Amino acid sequence: MPATDNIHDTIILGSGPAGLTAAIYAARSSCCPLLIAGGQPGGQLTTTTKVDNFPGFAEGVDGPELMQQMEDQARRFGTEFVDGEVTRVELGKAPFKLWLDEKLLQCRTLIIATGASPRMLGLPNEWELYGRGVSVCATCDGFFYRDKHVVVVGGGDTAMEEASFLTRFAAKVTVVHRRDSLRASAALEQRVRENEKIGFRWETQVTAILGDSAKGVHGVRLRHLPSGKEEDLTCDGLFIAIGHTPNTALFKDQLELDKDGYLATRNGTETSIAGVFAAGDVQDPHFRQAITAAGTGCMAALQAERYLESHGD
Ligand code: FAD
Ligand code: NAP
Repeated sequence: MPATDNIHDTIILGSGPAGLTAAIYAARSSCCPLLIAGGQPGGQLTTTTKVDNFPGFAEGVDGPELMQQMEDQARRFGTEFVDGEVTRVELGKAPFKLWLDEKLLQCRTLIIATGASPRMLGLPNEWELYGRGVSVCATCDGFFYRDKHVVVVGGGDTAMEEASFLTRFAAKVTVVHRRDSLRASAALEQRVRENEKIGFRWETQVTAILGDSAKGVHGVRLRHLPSGKEEDLTCDGLFIAIGHTPNTALFKDQLELDKDGYLATRNGTETSIAGVFAAGDVQDPHFRQAITAAGTGCMAALQAERYLESHGD
């Protein structure tokens, strides 16, 4: 139903694969969703070039092109798009209240698809070299490092998975970890230690990324923490795998979060408040892929539709 009483049936927060897929499904079922695009319209995939693993594109597709196609598809069925970020929410009782800057919006169902942001090292040129040798996603970019030497920073499960995955392509992978033991699970640690292509630099920090935006990354500067000794290590790529921060600050104290700060979901995409659903990276500490985000976006829209039906809307 259109928002004749100024209360929208469905508001979707976020315009990444999760939010846009939710919009396509909600709009096709005449829920007339309002989608708030956020500060990064199109989401994380707008920051990458080739997406090789999204089904339906045999030759791959550029990230921004894929997201534009999803947006066009969502618009075709009547999704209303609004620019801007939601800065405050009140989810205590329906209708749910959201503030887009100073403007109040209200809805009967809310789909949260605000994604997660990779943690970065905080080095001055890491964003300049992002996509030019600096990456946060081996599944996405590993293919480009065939027979090259890459450095992975981090000592958790993600870093170990990234390092293992990269050995499919790279000639050599060096894991740089700030402590002398890993945080990763024993099983992953064993897998990595048994892999002859992977070497470690323990108790070591990356203090600089060597390269420029024209030629890309050609090395990293390392500091061995106990001795303070610095050296330059030649490499072709730097994969930062030091964890993700889910974009859930808005919902703290209102929705249940898991121990890592992701939105807790059950029965698909239900959150701890009936009528509020969560899809994509914001509720997914494990897979964090475009297709899984799109899949849960679809689930959230279908669950929101059923919720509206069961409440007589
Ligand atoms: P996101 O894409 O993170 O989108 C979140 C959205 O929420 C954004 O539009 C943002 O503006 C919005 N938002 C945030 N806060 C607010 C707010 N307060 N109010 C309103 N809106 C808000 N996956 C693959 O499957 N294949 C790949 O090849 C691949 N390549 C990648 C390359 C890079 C460089 C990166 C960073 C990731 C890559 N990924 C890839 C992972 C993939 O991008 C994510 O899994 C996917 O984008 C998650 O989708 P999402 O919709 O959950 O969140
Ligand atoms: P994580 O467990 O938080 O590990 C982050 C790693 O990065 C840690 O080793 C940490 O060092 C290091 N680190 C953090 N900030 C750093 C900085 N500024 N500079 C250098 N190093 C830094 O994150 P994750 O590996 O992404 O895992 C997140 C969650 O997902 C975990 O619960 C994990 O088990 C789960 N996960 C599971 C699987 C799986 O089961 N297959 C796969 C991936 C992720 P310290 O160790 O010194 O803190």
